[in-house]
Amino acid sequence: MAGCLLIISGPSGVGKTTICKQLAQRLDAFLSVSLTTRPRRDNEVDGVDYKFISVEEFERRLAAGELLEYAKVYGGQYYGTPASPVHQALEAGRVVILEIDIEGAIQVMRRFPDAISIFVLAPTPEEQQDRLIGRQKDSPEAIRERLGKADGEIRYAYECGAYRHFLVNRTVEGTVDQIVQIVKEKMAR
Ligand code: 5GP
Repeated sequence: MAGCLLIISGPSGVGKTTICKQLAQRLDAFLSVSLTTRPRRDNEVDGVDYKFISVEEFERRLAAGELLEYAKVYGGQYYGTPASPVHQALEAGRVVILEIDIEGAIQVMRRFPDAISIFVLAPTPEEQQDRLIGRQKDSPEAIRERLGKADGEIRYAYECGAYRHFLVNRTVEGTVDQIVQIVKEKMAR
């Protein structure tokens, strides 16, 4: 049985990571661990949150065709999805969750037009700002960069045609319930 690919995107600070972790539990899904060249934050574990690698290593893997998709996101850092764990999990019939940006989603939708793609929005810009500041992960410049990008990102997400669903994250439980429902309906087809 073939599995189901689920793409979750959204502006920084919208709550994607929490949503993806809960979805992975609820759906017994495979949560893809991305490669990144950005520095590890104190609360992150290498190999769990991301696999942290050098630019040289990233470019080597890219040239070797090992990535399903990739993009340069904040601060010009590379982020990418290793292809083989995703293919293996799909072949085993599992739901595979990719938390990736819009460029990555466009690439994946070209290769897997049947994937479920969801763009998550914050209820208000103020709530997004509060979450970015509250999580104390980013420097003031990084927060400014991330908030500054959000408006254009949302417009691009609507215009690019890669997303089938746009959900407002009012509560994590509510959003997770909605996504579980979407996945179950798709898998029942
Ligand atoms: P952060 O630096 O806050 O962990 O993530 C920044 C952004 O990179 C997030 O919007 C996230 O969706 C995106 N991202 C994380 N992993 C990947 C990936 O493997 N591919 C792509 N294209 N984007 C990613």
